Amino acid sequence: MTYTAPLDDMRFVLDEIAGLSEIAGMPGYEDATPDLVDAVLGEAGRLANEVLAPLNHSGDREGLGFENGVVRTPKGFREAYQQYVESGWNSLPFDPDYGGQGLPWALSTAVTEMWNAANMSFALCPLLNQGAVDLLETHATEEQKQTYLTKLISGEWTGTMNLTEPQAGSDVGALKTKAERNGDHYLITGQKIYITWGEHDYTDNIVHLVLARLPDAPAGTKGISLFIVPKFLVNADGTAGPRNDLRCVSLEHKLGVHASPTCVMAYGDNGGAVGYLVGEENNGMACMFTMMNNARLAVGMQGVAIADRAYQQATAFARDRVQSRAIGSSDPKATAIIQHPDVRRMLMTMRAGTEAMRCIAYLNAAEIDRAHRHPDATVRAKSDARANLLTPITKGWATELGCNLTSLGVQIHGGMGFIEETGAAQHYRDARILPIYEGTTGIQALDLLTRKLLRDGGETARGLIEEMLETLAQVSASEDTRVSTLAAPTIEQIRSLAKSTESLLKTGAEDMVTAAAAATPYLNLFGTVVGGWLLCKSALTASAKLASGEGNSLFYDAKIKTARFYLDNILPQASGYAAAIEGAESVMAMDEAQF
Ligand SMILES: Cc1cc2nc3c(=O)[nH]c(=O)nc-3n(C[C@H](O)[C@H](O)[C@H](O)COP(=O)(O)OP(=O)(O)OC[C@H]3O[C@@H](n4cnc5c(N)ncnc54)[C@H](O)[C@@H]3O)c2cc1C
Repeated sequence: MTYTAPLDDMRFVLDEIAGLSEIAGMPGYEDATPDLVDAVLGEAGRLANEVLAPLNHSGDREGLGFENGVVRTPKGFREAYQQYVESGWNSLPFDPDYGGQGLPWALSTAVTEMWNAANMSFALCPLLNQGAVDLLETHATEEQKQTYLTKLISGEWTGTMNLTEPQAGSDVGALKTKAERNGDHYLITGQKIYITWGEHDYTDNIVHLVLARLPDAPAGTKGISLFIVPKFLVNADGTAGPRNDLRCVSLEHKLGVHASPTCVMAYGDNGGAVGYLVGEENNGMACMFTMMNNARLAVGMQGVAIADRAYQQATAFARDRVQSRAIGSSDPKATAIIQHPDVRRMLMTMRAGTEAMRCIAYLNAAEIDRAHRHPDATVRAKSDARANLLTPITKGWATELGCNLTSLGVQIHGGMGFIEETGAAQHYRDARILPIYEGTTGIQALDLLTRKLLRDGGETARGLIEEMLETLAQVSASEDTRVSTLAAPTIEQIRSLAKSTESLLKTGAEDMVTAAAAATPYLNLFGTVVGGWLLCKSALTASAKLASGEGNSLFYDAKIKTARFYLDNILPQASGYAAAIEGAESVMAMDEAQF
């Protein structure tokens, strides 16, 4: 049940796919030198491997304590959080003016992968906090930043995200929590459910970011405002003061992430919790989208992380478990199951899928860095659009695939996979939340279709497809036949993506119901093809490294073999998704009464 952060793979994707050295040349990112990047990855790997990973299974088994509104985290979690904060990990990508280290999001995303692979329950607290910081950096007043941001960046306090209510899940616009003006602040009353790390014993304050509605607000998402609602009101000297009128009513009992408190929160039982407006009244959704986009990429990263953890565990098991003679072997002795072709198929699926997802997620983060810091405004705008396009794909595709791959991890273990003591079952259970929270896959697919495809008439998608074809022209021209032969099947699927994109643009203009029915297959098609593109790019680089005799030849050889496996075994699924897009009309053919 150990975890070893795959530092070489991470470094490869950061360098060759995300373009970290180019990012490090941008104003404000100069500190991200190759030596510093190595040091950050190495030290984060140590904390993940040695401190967080050993608490993963025990945290799952022990779970959380809850008494009189107080949450007790499992043994070792509080100390691990202190160590994490004292080592400065909480502040990696944030504004140096408020105590951050100002490092690129691409690097921070790789580090996030380690926390989540090591211990997803633990990592959820910093994940939500990171979104809260991003939101406040972007939308808070200077006074709010001085009061809250510095402590959230240092990790002295933690932040939460409060959208969901019993009647308002995917439909955030249906929320009813009330905010009433009361002098220089607002009074908040209402109930929020499923609030991750809404209460805990790590820190002496928790800063809740709460969506609520003013009495005269318009209906729907246009009438939502955003508030900072601290658990303890803040004294003039910046310390935590009197208790605010809010409490954790209960904890949910869940399928997975047992060490992450999922809280029902009551605001204003005694007259109203004090809240401070962020941004303008009725503009809360725009502010919250900063946090949601940040968290969506991070949750996509959780899909990569949990798949890699499950892959490492399944590989170790497959080397160890002995069953049956190897097919074609003259040796009568039973062999380790890693010799059996079907087990190999599962391991390779896990490996190739995880590597493809990692490429997409790091590229997504790198586009955010370019959008923030590239000196050329045209590049910034293009990268911003591209990051926006990739975010629902990373979130939707990597989390669905993460579930499938952890399921394969269980399968490789046979019966032991179903038995909790191996830990394979925990990865499978923990992964299952990923396609649900931060917007379900269905919601990501609609976001991709409506906001990212239809809104700009397909311009960003076409630009990305063009770039994919440019890479494939280089792949095709490679002198290494192991690489050049990757080109034809990939180009075919990229063209298929282009065709489906045009077809969906047309359907979207004429018949939104059918377009919506095609949205999830389109998201999966996009993810599968982008994964193929990026693995081809990896293989091209690996081949060049092999030719120059640079680095670890086994590592680069494996990159080419992994790309080949992906193209032969995973990329063909794209044809199925394209067919489903064409056949989307049948989705709504049946009357509701026929169900
Ligand atoms: C462990 C956990 C942690 C969470 N953490 C937080 C948190 O910290 N903060 C927070 O605010 N919330 C949190 N949530 C809530 C989470 O974001 C919601 O559960 C999620 O957005 C889905 O909402 P819902 O559960 O109401 O499902 P519903 O919205 O009822 O969805 C049910 C089904 O209908 C589909 N559906 C709904 N509307 C549409 C539509 N328009 N088009 C197509 N399909 C649709 C969905 O895809 C889904 O399959 C958490 C939930 C869990 C379980």
